Amino acid sequence: MNRPATTADILPHFIGGSLRPASADGARDRRNPSDPADIVARAPVGTAADVDAAVAAATVAFGAWRAQSGPARADALHRWGDAIAARADELARTMAREVGKPISEARGEVVRATVICRYYAGEAVREIGEVIPSQAADALQFTLRDPLGPVALITPWNFPLAIPLWKAAPALAFGNTIVLKPSEHSPRMAHLLAETAIASGLPAGVFNVIHGDGSTGAALVAHEQVRAVSFTGSQGVGARVAVVAAERNVRVQTEMGGKNVVIVARDADLDRAAALTAAGAMRYAGQKCTATSRVIVERPVEAAFLARLEAAMAALPLGPVDDPACAIGPLITTESKARIEHVLGANQAETLFGGKLPDDARYRVGNWFAPRVIRFGGAGEPLALTELFGPVLGVLVADDLDHALAMANATPFGLSASLFTRDLRAALGYVRRIEAGLVRVNGDTTGVDPHAPFGGTKGSSSGSREQGRAARDFYTEIRTVQIHP
Ligand code: NAD
Repeated sequence: MNRPATTADILPHFIGGSLRPASADGARDRRNPSDPADIVARAPVGTAADVDAAVAAATVAFGAWRAQSGPARADALHRWGDAIAARADELARTMAREVGKPISEARGEVVRATVICRYYAGEAVREIGEVIPSQAADALQFTLRDPLGPVALITPWNFPLAIPLWKAAPALAFGNTIVLKPSEHSPRMAHLLAETAIASGLPAGVFNVIHGDGSTGAALVAHEQVRAVSFTGSQGVGARVAVVAAERNVRVQTEMGGKNVVIVARDADLDRAAALTAAGAMRYAGQKCTATSRVIVERPVEAAFLARLEAAMAALPLGPVDDPACAIGPLITTESKARIEHVLGANQAETLFGGKLPDDARYRVGNWFAPRVIRFGGAGEPLALTELFGPVLGVLVADDLDHALAMANATPFGLSASLFTRDLRAALGYVRRIEAGLVRVNGDTTGVDPHAPFGGTKGSSSGSREQGRAARDFYTEIRTVQIHP
């Protein structure tokens, strides 16, 4: 669609089961990050009135949805998974075009989206309480889990299908209704998600989508009918969201950034460590919350590891994103590119290798940014503490594993970490001492099973974990029942 958008192209909101025309005021073009001439969507900015209408629809729908049986909610989630699978190719291609995700990873995300729907269809029919012995011998005491009501989901652009769904599917499975405020950088994907919800026959008002920016998100978080807020995004925004939710005493979880670390021990399989560090740092241009952004290598293997890392990086193809071989696409926005360039320049980062785009016309338009490995001056320097959200990996050298662990833990974040070693004792010590919610040994810092709990420690997360059975703790509250004869 290489033509200027018109008002007619403005994406509608999805409220109460139907697509509602949105105001043109403040509407913005979402451009293909590989080709800014390609307008992928014209996205509206939802107003307080739009937020009101969506929350009202979710409130009205809540009574009937919570009254549905678990098996009925499971059927609905299976049908949503089917509707997503039916448009898999279009969803993956649109994701590549809208957020610059390499097509092979975009296809993987669509499959993951269907798996999430099916996993939570299973959760909807699992046991939801416990029998607890009562002090009164003839009484029956047990717990039930109740849904919370209308919940707000606020999501980033980098996993535009998987993140909305790993919040929405458990919310629905346990009987809540939803207002989703997707990222302003992935409105077309959110619109397609709404279309799949319509195609699946999800009851009206159970799932609503309001497009917009931070102002729309803020209005949603502050809305008095919203009973919980699940947020994924940057640390600064997450902190504000948590404060507003706390003031209203509604449940909140925030999943935020990271400065994820790989430690390479002197006994590591260096080929494996180099390949997985390069992939974890550079794939999708380092724009995963779990992307590796620091590598700490034990001094005796520094040179051997860095030589392998350079080769592994060179083997990762840069664009075009619709090529199945592509590993690294462009950055999401020109602002993101300018910010990373500014931070690297201001800190006089020393580049060890990478940092030059191939001399090809393809990279002269769009938000292309050359992947690079830099040397950190120390674990406490600003560059080693700041999430860049781009294909930049910083190297630190450690005298021994204790030193490496101390440096690994010296950040305000605690999302994902990996140690490469063949020493089981070292691995066990690290598993207990590393400050991270996702802890790997001999693996990549990125990627997660949708049926396993996900989240970080310290500044990376707050509230209960997402995904797997952990999601039940967020989307339900416990009722303790005692029945006497
Ligand atoms: P962002 O914080 O800019 O935006 C996230 C969402 O919050 C968007 O929908 C945005 O419109 C909304 N928002 C902005 N201001 C708001 C406000 N005042 N009130 C309510 N909502 C508001 O983040 P982003 O650029 O979209 O995503 C990148 C960030 O997300 C990175 O920091 C990355 O690490 C993080 N992330 C974390 C995880 C995780 O699970 N830990 C997963 C993916 C991304």
